[in-house]
Amino acid sequence: MTETMVTKPASQDLVQLSALTLPALQHLMEAWGQPKFRAKQVLDWRNKGILDPAEMKNIPEALRDRLSSSLMCQPLRLVRRECSRDGTRKYVFALNRPRLAGKMVEAVFIPEEKRGTVCISSQVGCVLDCPFCHTGTQGFEGNLSPGEIVAQVLMIKADLLHEPMTGDLHDGVTHIVYMGMGEPMANEEGVHGSLALLMDEDGLKLSRRRITVSTSGLIPQIDRLGQVHPVNLAISLHAAMDDKRNVLVPINRKYPLTQLRHCLDNYPLPTQRHITLEYVLLDGVNDQPEDIAALRRFVNPERERINLIQFNPYPGSPYRGTPKEHMSKFAQDLISKGIRATLRRSRGQDIMAACGQLKAETREVS
Ligand code: SAH
Ligand code: SF4
Repeated sequence: MTETMVTKPASQDLVQLSALTLPALQHLMEAWGQPKFRAKQVLDWRNKGILDPAEMKNIPEALRDRLSSSLMCQPLRLVRRECSRDGTRKYVFALNRPRLAGKMVEAVFIPEEKRGTVCISSQVGCVLDCPFCHTGTQGFEGNLSPGEIVAQVLMIKADLLHEPMTGDLHDGVTHIVYMGMGEPMANEEGVHGSLALLMDEDGLKLSRRRITVSTSGLIPQIDRLGQVHPVNLAISLHAAMDDKRNVLVPINRKYPLTQLRHCLDNYPLPTQRHITLEYVLLDGVNDQPEDIAALRRFVNPERERINLIQFNPYPGSPYRGTPKEHMSKFAQDLISKGIRATLRRSRGQDIMAACGQLKAETREVS
């Protein structure tokens, strides 16, 4: 018998606690000869962010041990946490499953007075390579599983439980944005699976109105998202002319603006909701009068609004951000043409937690 035949199943095959639904866990309890109500007790802990069975106080020790040995209870390990002056917290997590063991992803908690938003990663690195994005320069290393995506939210919940925000800032997770590392629509399995878990009545119970998926514009995948999980949509537009967008968002060569236009017109929107068009302003590149004119031609003001983003520089970045005054003027010009435009306040910039700055630099020491 060869060595591989006698080894235990690789832990990447273990089911992740963060990916379990109530019926699946009930089924497991039954198979283990446990009362069914234990499933609910375990999920109550899990949904609070407590992933280590050792901390599940009302669970008998033998069952805690069995959970620990039979499931992957902690798919992520917190490697580092950085807190910004404005309350934003950036988390660096290492993956635990063998194929991606030690690879890092990042998530960010952005507190405001009445809401707490978690920005999550969907891939290690990114399959695409937008030239102004730090993640894009990292290359692609792998897709996160549904359990690994949800675990980012759960671990942040646990951190907030242990160390709440101070002052008027919100402590809870009320909103989720898929705007961390990776292109969510290039990882449909992980993203659809995680959306189902985030919205699950026995899981995190988040409404679809509180979840936003940001994508650079993979058309068939956006169509499917709208059919299966019509959450809020944000599109990385960044230019409304094909020649410029081909450079800034290279997926545009495959799915040009006419196709994007058609796709956005068909995306299901609840009443009073908008699609967000993200537009990072790059000095002398996409902040010219011709860009305003192109936006005017492209945008459907009834259904879309533009979120102007300040460029977040990172070491070696090849672009410069548009100066602040010119950003405001750009916004005013759009507004005067009937296009809703807002300037996004950049949060956590001092800890490189802002959009496009995410790139896990930490390397495992051990
Ligand atoms: N891959 C997805 C989601 C992650 S990026 C997407 O592209 O939409 C989240 C947002 O940050 C996107 O709008 C992206 O274009 C923007 N972004 C990337 N790099 C940036 C940078 N250096 N400064 C400001 N925004 C950036
Ligand atoms: Fe990937 Fe989005 Fe960065 Fe483009 S902007 S490289 S799609 S993470």
